[in-house]
Amino acid sequence: MGNETPEDKGHAALDSAWETALAQLDEAAELMGLAPGVHEILRAPKRSLSVSVPFRLDDGSTKVCQGYRVHHNVTRGPAKGGIRYHQSVDLDEVKALAMWMTWKSAIAGIPFGGAKGGVAVDPKVLSRGELERMTRRYASEILPLIGPERDIPAPDMNTNEEIMAWIMDTYSINQGYSVPGVVTGKPVAIGGSKGRGGATSRGVMYMIFSTLKALGKGIDEVSVAIQGYGKVGGFAAQLLHDAGCRVVAVSDVEGGLYRERGLDPEAINRHKREAGAVAGFPGAEPISNSDLLEVDCDVLVPAAIEGVITVKNADKVKAEIVCEAANGPVTFEADKILGERGIFVVPDILANAGGVTVSYFEWVQDIQAYFWSEEEVNDRLRQIMERSFHEVYSLASEKELTMRQAAHWIGVGRVAEAHLTRGLFP
Ligand code: GLU
Repeated sequence: MGNETPEDKGHAALDSAWETALAQLDEAAELMGLAPGVHEILRAPKRSLSVSVPFRLDDGSTKVCQGYRVHHNVTRGPAKGGIRYHQSVDLDEVKALAMWMTWKSAIAGIPFGGAKGGVAVDPKVLSRGELERMTRRYASEILPLIGPERDIPAPDMNTNEEIMAWIMDTYSINQGYSVPGVVTGKPVAIGGSKGRGGATSRGVMYMIFSTLKALGKGIDEVSVAIQGYGKVGGFAAQLLHDAGCRVVAVSDVEGGLYRERGLDPEAINRHKREAGAVAGFPGAEPISNSDLLEVDCDVLVPAAIEGVITVKNADKVKAEIVCEAANGPVTFEADKILGERGIFVVPDILANAGGVTVSYFEWVQDIQAYFWSEEEVNDRLRQIMERSFHEVYSLASEKELTMRQAAHWIGVGRVAEAHLTRGLFP
């Protein structure tokens, strides 16, 4: 069964992020007996904006990129979600990512809806000036949608706090006064929250600890493999190593490393700063990005992009636990294979909610103009991650569901309840 491709079964592969997101929602709707009207509302984003983003290159010529901002749902509060810059961004991907944000916020119990944005561009080929001009133009194009009460962007793949500062500035200049609450994940100097930079990684660590505890395993000497050595994966490697786990494999776009005895993230960081990639780190075996998913380890953390575990490699995963730090790394059908093989999958909408949770704290601090200590941020984050894990784990145990089904049940259920409570206009 594991080697059978979807084509063998006579239907197209459910491999795109949007198909995965819809299949997950449909399955949850069926399991929980969701009212058909609400199900249909939740299948489509509330609004999708496509924008053309022209900007000047350093040589004086003009480049035009396609940009998007999608609000999947705003029933529980303002739309919330990151902005990504990547050459493969398209409307369907942004729709999927926005839908996942809706469930993620609802599971974490924070009063946001789901949104996502993106620009189809490879930011690595742009100079800093070009990146700033593109960001400011994209921000201007999506201006009618964003604002602290309506939609609050944040960093995602290839975007960072500097880019958030440019968006905050562009919005504020247009308003005529400073509006720190329009974006999260911005520098502390302009109203960012302490602890936001490492929040997704820290949340992933809390999730792994909760999982190990629930499964009766100790933290010490658990072996971990992490795909994606960027903002999320790189810091998660450091945190897990510091907590006593053995990080046996890491990778970035250029390739990966394996060492059974464990790798030292600090030494890898030093190497990556000089060499530009983790590859070539001395004393470790070079592996490819796809090898990384198949290494012998207890916990596999896909922290890069969506759709990396598919029907083609799901039967080769050796980890007992998969903790999804990336959004959508496992396709719908691959998830079934992992489930049949008894692999415990902590789904993205639960596992990587640390980022949006501290984004919520940042927004709250901005609105109150009253700022918290890093300890307070981390402690409140831990409480929310632990509570969410237990709510999902209890439902999964009670109803004999996978963690993903239970997470969707809770997320979709809370959004559906909000819809039904508010009623349908007019
Ligand atoms: N981009 C992150 C995510 O996918 C964070 C979003 C946010 O903080 O709004 O969850």
